[in-house]
Amino acid sequence: MVERKLNFSAGPSQMPLEVLKEMQDEFLCYKESGCSVLEMSHRAKDFEEIIFGARDTLRRIMEIPEDYEILFMQGGATTQFSMVPMNLAKQGDTFTYVNTGQFAGKAKDEGARWGNAVVTASSKDKTFSYIPDEITVAPGSKFIHITGNNTIYGTSYNSLFDHGDTPLVADWSSAILGKWIDVKDYDLIYAGAQKNMGPSGLAVVIIKKNLLELEVDPVVPVMMRYKVAADNDSMYNTPPTYSIYAAGKMFSWVEKMGGVRALEEINKEKAEMLYDFIDNSALFTNPVRVKDRSIMNVTFTLPDEALTKAFLDECKMKGIINIKGHRSVGGMRASIYNGMPKEGVKTLLDTMKEFEKNNR
Ligand SMILES: *Cc1c(COP(=O)(O)O)cnc(C)c1O
Repeated sequence: MVERKLNFSAGPSQMPLEVLKEMQDEFLCYKESGCSVLEMSHRAKDFEEIIFGARDTLRRIMEIPEDYEILFMQGGATTQFSMVPMNLAKQGDTFTYVNTGQFAGKAKDEGARWGNAVVTASSKDKTFSYIPDEITVAPGSKFIHITGNNTIYGTSYNSLFDHGDTPLVADWSSAILGKWIDVKDYDLIYAGAQKNMGPSGLAVVIIKKNLLELEVDPVVPVMMRYKVAADNDSMYNTPPTYSIYAAGKMFSWVEKMGGVRALEEINKEKAEMLYDFIDNSALFTNPVRVKDRSIMNVTFTLPDEALTKAFLDECKMKGIINIKGHRSVGGMRASIYNGMPKEGVKTLLDTMKEFEKNNR
């Protein structure tokens, strides 16, 4: 069998081996059900246990208050770019976006199809290497949207700002469950699952219940309505059953590991190992303003293309894969989500140290 490598992919990303093994053990026949989860009706008792179990575990590990609903949605985080404005505003309404990178921009573009999407703050002037200090809400906004962790650029909101009574919506795709997020600070949080919660295609939405009571424009399709999803326990149609099962396994693993705060501590240590070395390196650099650094996606560059290529070749030799930076920024990006153990980061660090020694 081909060996598993150290996978630093930004998503879909490396999952804990024990979770994969548990899924493998249950693959052909799930418990007493007589079939695989893949073959199971979403109306079956066993599946109800899977989906409600996943929901309840997520509620515990994120300490989600009772006045928030948890929804399992399809179409990844990107579909949420459209669903948020369609459910929180009427056509032509005003809402605010903060432009901190590519996903933030895509979210804004979807909002602009629906209404008056105003960008009040942006870090585009410095290639999205920081989170804007001054963030304001455009007058009359139905919500303000931020991208909590900017996967491509390696920045993150490490504190929030005053947004008055305007509902705060956050795309926390690449940091959910890897960093402590206080749900009470938000009105709506969404995240694609493939970074810290398992397979792609699934998105988790955590929405304050009062937002479910807003009147929705009649043109909004049934599958795009949060209220419909909530009223049907995320099973208005056949949900992505296996993905929900896998996400549930990830939630239980987080709980077993001591919860989100415990994992955040480990993730901070992993990130610090890399940032410490980079900050003292004569060869590697990280462009992000220190206080806005992400603990999930660590970006770094080398002085030229030849060195970059040589380093990527070296990584390959060491069994390190998917560490190339996003095509729009180049360089390297180490995505070190919950599924990447400390030893994996140590191997990367050793590879960087050795490379520096040999290329001075
Ligand atoms: C990965 C990612 C997305 C896109 O997720 P899809 O599931 O591919 O739609 C959106 N926002 C952020 C912050 C991401 O990291």
